[in-house]
Parts: sequence; structure tokens; C-alpha cells
Amino acid sequence: MMPVTACLAPTPEGIAQAADLLRKGGLVAFPTETVYGLGGDARSDHAVARIFAAKGRPHFNPLIVHLPDAAAARGLAVFDARADALAAAFWPGPLTLVLPLRAGSGLSGLVTAGLPTVALRVPAHPVAQALLQLFGGPLAAPSANPSGRVSPTRAAHVTEGLGGRIEAVIDGGACAVGVESTIVGLDGAARLLRPGGVPVEALETALGQPLLLREAGKITAPGQLAAHYAPGAPVRLDAIAARPNEVWIGFGPQSAGAALTLSGTGDLAEAAARLFHTLREADRLAGPGGAIAVAPIPERGLGRAINDRLRRAAAPRA
Ligand code: AMP
Ligand code: MG
Repeated sequence: MMPVTACLAPTPEGIAQAADLLRKGGLVAFPTETVYGLGGDARSDHAVARIFAAKGRPHFNPLIVHLPDAAAARGLAVFDARADALAAAFWPGPLTLVLPLRAGSGLSGLVTAGLPTVALRVPAHPVAQALLQLFGGPLAAPSANPSGRVSPTRAAHVTEGLGGRIEAVIDGGACAVGVESTIVGLDGAARLLRPGGVPVEALETALGQPLLLREAGKITAPGQLAAHYAPGAPVRLDAIAARPNEVWIGFGPQSAGAALTLSGTGDLAEAAARLFHTLREADRLAGPGGAIAVAPIPERGLGRAINDRLRRAAAPRA
């Protein structure tokens, strides 16, 4: 049966209703500092299977498990000195650690796609924190959008994509970071699996060593699929001007004439926060037969995560 998707307030009452729905095996989208997550009980095969179904997500793509604090995370995975250091420096926050799964973790095998590792994150958003604490268990929570499409940074984006397929969304306003978490694999040499809300430079400083980049062609994360984050219209990158049928998305004062901008002053944090909403806006403005062009974004700090998402948005579609 298709649920009617309730819109809940980010109040103690709304959060209590959300926790109740989750305890019954329901799916609830909730705000985090990165993007909206589609939450379900990570211990329940039924709830996790429903997450995959609601998103149309392939089952080989494991999900990130969200926890209220590092102590809860330690019950699910084996932490070494590197994991301790990164957790101490960046949790709560937009960092996901892939660690060896503990025997008897109680997690559904669907969450890890049968891998001997698990991806864990402690979100900083006060609504996510309140929900995790009240629910009292691990929540599997991929981005709350149909698989392959632009990630949601507002509650309205969630209902546009998943309305009628999930029980509820908690409306916590716009997400402050705006791009997904950085994923670091620590089941071996420290490896960057996905650039995201914590800049690589900051991770390397905390680790005291450079991160390896993921092996070319090997997909262990859905955010690693070539075509992902895709709007309806085709996307052209590094555009220094618009062509006739294009909606141009600018960055910095050089592109002041653009129809939309990620940041008029060239601020990367502002650009990340606005990225997915601006792609949706550009898609709407482009209309049928239109296209999207995006100004160059510097490949440093949050620019790495922005460029990663833009390259996927621009990748040839299957
Ligand atoms: P999403 O929830 O769509 O933002 O993506 C979740 C990310 O966590 C994906 O890119 C997953 O592949 C990644 N992930 C989850 N579990 C693992 C794992 N055991 N090993 C590697 N990556 C993982
Ligand atoms: Mg996603």
C-alpha cells in the first residue's frame, strides 16, 4: 500500500511521531547538515528493503548507518587509532568512516550489501541528533531521492521525489553543508571513497598522512557511479559563457551575467550549500530541450566535492 507522506515539524512532537513510525518499520526522511536522509531501522531487513525499493536503488550499493555518537558507533565496528583520530576531529559532522563490521552488530545484512565492512556517520544536525537519540538505534539513511537523481537539500525536494513512497519527512529547512558526507575507507590503507562535506585537506592534516584515492573503476559506493546526481537537462561544465539554449550557473564575479549563481563572491561553502537546489532550479528554467552550463569551480576544499557531483551530473547517461 502506498503511504501518504506526512510532513512533520522539527519539534519534540514531530520528532516523537517520526521515531514512532521508525519503530514500526516505517521510512522517515530527516534533515542532516549534508542532505536529507531517508531513514529506516538499520536492524530491520524489512525497513532496509523498503529503503532500496523507495529509492529504486541497486542492492549492491551499501547504505550509511547513522548514530547519535561515537560510543554507539563503536558497538557496530572496530575502530583503530586512525578511526579514533578522525572521529574525535570530525564527529558529529559530515564524515563517514568505512570500518570492519563487528560480529553480532545486529545490523541487517542488506545495509552492508553483505560486505565485511560498514559505513558509519554521526550527523551534527540538531533534528537528526534528536531523532537518533529518541529512536535509540542505528538508522540506515541514504540520500532521500530516487536513485541517480539530484540529492534533496529541502523537505520539498524530498516530497517531489519520494512523496507517496515513504511515511513522513521532517521539515528542518535547508541543509547547511549541502553536499553529502566525505567517505573514508579505513579497512586497509586510508582511502578517499567519496569527496564531501569535510575537505580532504582537513582529513589529511588530522591523519598526518595523505589519503589514497579509490581504485579506478572499482565501485564500492553509489556516489561512485559515473552518472549520478543527474538533473533532467544535459549539463556542460567549465562554461565561461552560455550558449543560446543553455541556463548558465555562475560562480564568482567573473560570471555575474549568469541566470543563476552558486556564489556571487566565489565562496565554496556557499556554493556547496546551494548546489543541488540550483541544479533543480536550472532544470526547471531549462525546460524541455534546454540545457544547463556551469562555470568553472576551483578544485580545492569543498570545490572537490562540488566538482565530483557536477562531473557525475554531466556524465553520459545510460
Ligand atoms: P548515499 O547514502 O547515497 O549518500 O551513499 C552512501 C555511501 O556510503 C555510498 O556511497 C556507499 O557505497 C557508501 N558505503 C556504505 N557502506 C560501505 C561499505 N561497506 N564500503 C564502502 N562504501 C560504503
Ligand atoms: Mg545519494
